[in-house]
Amino acid sequence: MALLTEYFGTMAFDETSMKEYLPADIYASLKKTIDEGRSIDMDIANAVAKGMKEWAVAKGCTHFTHWFQPLSGMTAEKHESFISPVGEGRVIMEFSGKELVRGESDASSFPSGGLRATFEARGYTAWDPTSYAFIKDRTLCIPTAFCSYGGEALDKKTPLLRSMDAINIQALRILKLLDPNTDVSCVRASVGAEQEYFLVPKEMYDKRRDLIFTGRTLFGANPPKGQELEDHYYGTIKPQVDAFMKELDEELWKLGILVKTEHNEAAPSQHELAPIYTQVNIAADNNQLMMEMMQKISKRHGLVCLLHEKPFKGVNGSGKHNNWSIATNTGVNLLSPGKTPYDNVQFLLFLVAVIKAVDDYQDLLRISAATAGNDHRLGSNEAPPAVISIFLGDELSSIIDAIETNTHYDPMEKSQLRLGVDALPPLPKDNTDRNRTSPFAFTGNKFEFRMVGSSNSISDCNTFLNTAVAESLRQFADELEKADDMTSALDSLIRRTIREHKRIIFNGNNYDESWIKEATEKRGLLNLRTTPDALECFLDEKNVRLFEQHRVYTRTEMKSRKTITLANYTKTIKIEANVMVDMVYKEILPAITEYAKDICQTGKAKKELSPAMNTEYEETMAERLGNLESRIYREVKRLEQILGETPKTDDVSVLAAYIRDKVAVSMKDLREVCDEAEFITAEKYWPYPTYASLLFGLQ
Ligand code: ADP
Ligand code: MG
Repeated sequence: MALLTEYFGTMAFDETSMKEYLPADIYASLKKTIDEGRSIDMDIANAVAKGMKEWAVAKGCTHFTHWFQPLSGMTAEKHESFISPVGEGRVIMEFSGKELVRGESDASSFPSGGLRATFEARGYTAWDPTSYAFIKDRTLCIPTAFCSYGGEALDKKTPLLRSMDAINIQALRILKLLDPNTDVSCVRASVGAEQEYFLVPKEMYDKRRDLIFTGRTLFGANPPKGQELEDHYYGTIKPQVDAFMKELDEELWKLGILVKTEHNEAAPSQHELAPIYTQVNIAADNNQLMMEMMQKISKRHGLVCLLHEKPFKGVNGSGKHNNWSIATNTGVNLLSPGKTPYDNVQFLLFLVAVIKAVDDYQDLLRISAATAGNDHRLGSNEAPPAVISIFLGDELSSIIDAIETNTHYDPMEKSQLRLGVDALPPLPKDNTDRNRTSPFAFTGNKFEFRMVGSSNSISDCNTFLNTAVAESLRQFADELEKADDMTSALDSLIRRTIREHKRIIFNGNNYDESWIKEATEKRGLLNLRTTPDALECFLDEKNVRLFEQHRVYTRTEMKSRKTITLANYTKTIKIEANVMVDMVYKEILPAITEYAKDICQTGKAKKELSPAMNTEYEETMAERLGNLESRIYREVKRLEQILGETPKTDDVSVLAAYIRDKVAVSMKDLREVCDEAEFITAEKYWPYPTYASLLFGLQ
């Protein structure tokens, strides 16, 4: 096996390959586009296309595709081969600048949320030169943005790129105000997204229709052992999983993705993979690729990777931790407190900009994590609650307090951890402990947004975050540009922002019931429990104004996003309900009947042998099973009836509310009785693998 350093990035058209395959002047202008967002002219595009094709063909590619991220949250591609006939039955491999820059396809099967009339089927993909092209399955994949015939964004990438511009413009204004001679020419958000997932044996997965059709178990009694011993977290990695992780790492490294940390997570069979952070649009591309590769490579190891937010009831679900900071092109992390954060005005200004943004746009952050799957996680003592708050930690909180009250601040001494063993070196202690319960936690020089679901694209949360922070910075810059005395203007701006927004800061236990009470009743923070609740806020005037002002979404694009998210929620739960009904009639009820029949026959045989024989067990079990059977039958009929009575309307809000209040509730009741039946049914009669085998079945 080649050395990692030798194969790293070999499948990405990154700066090394660009330098090798592009003429120096072409490379220089492409680099300017990547670094500063300059637009590209056709001559350059042609030259880039030529170099890219040579690189790809040398690596065995026969096809190219425009790779994009439609609003379904997945990725899409349409493959075309490079061949072009030259007569006499011969072909050459061709790829022009035009093909690189623009693709045209039938967009009518992708969700548009009403953006596109049915007669307007055309959709366009446009090359995003700021993300690297890469090779997958002998295909050159070109990252693109996807838009409608009318130019509206039909994807998650376009708004993310627009939000990067927004934060760049406003952050530069601030930096120029703080230092008119600054050499910073570009500010970008950096993101590292930690990804959680489950692995289950493929042969067991194949026996469960719920996993196949919905990605999660819709039934399943608790196994005798769950995660209570906490013996899986950071535990030894099993050989089958280890082999999978090794191959996954290699494939991702070839693509130039900086995967770094992997470990077992809290639940049995749950794992995590984290890359080193990069510029946000690249991080979003990489995260999509990571998810795709996990699913593909797991199959080669007899495993299935579950990315659902709540594949199993009773054990932790999976999320994504979106680590976010902002940095200049000169390498300064604007959220790095430095040695003396109290005196670091630049840091404090950007810090309070984030605090204000999160408080002003709590609803948007919640919306960015709103899906049917994620609703099972938030607020169940395994993931943050649906209430957004910020954890700052002891040191920053004391600084913020001192500024707010205009009192003297005593810097905390970095203390040493004493382990009581002389041979161990002293460890410097961090000034802030971790808080795993907070949705938005400051972790030293970045914020970690912990609400995102494991299968969600990270584009939405970063688009919202970038734009909301851009808006804080815009207001700050407007105010500071008018100031006569910069020092006192900064001082009062920072103090006032803390006063106005400190309600969003909470350093305690977010899982505590009393916090939800305090947050909603005393502090007036939002508690948007479900996806339909959250989405109702999306089109609030303040949100439309925010996105239109920073040119991230138009009102129409926002409407379409709301429609798609709610329709997705409705469809997801409806499919789950249908699968439940199907499993109950075809598998669960027949299994219980069969078991009950065998028990009755045994009892009957015993009595025939000798009327004096004890048949207490058979009689009680037959009765219990009979009762459960009738209850299941009643519940499944009820669910069928509720599904049948779904309002006949196109109003997605009405439909989503019906699904939440009626269908989901009835599904819960049905599941409860089925799980009770599973608990007392002999394993050989049960039609599919139980939680015990799914969660502990791996070698
Ligand atoms: P923790 O274990 O506290 O979650 P890590 O240092 O392991 O923190 O980092 C978690 C993720 O955060 C990684 O993907 C890492 O690359 C990313 N990260 C680290 N620094 C930054 C930063 N300045 N901006 C964005 N992401 C960062
Ligand atoms: Mg983390």
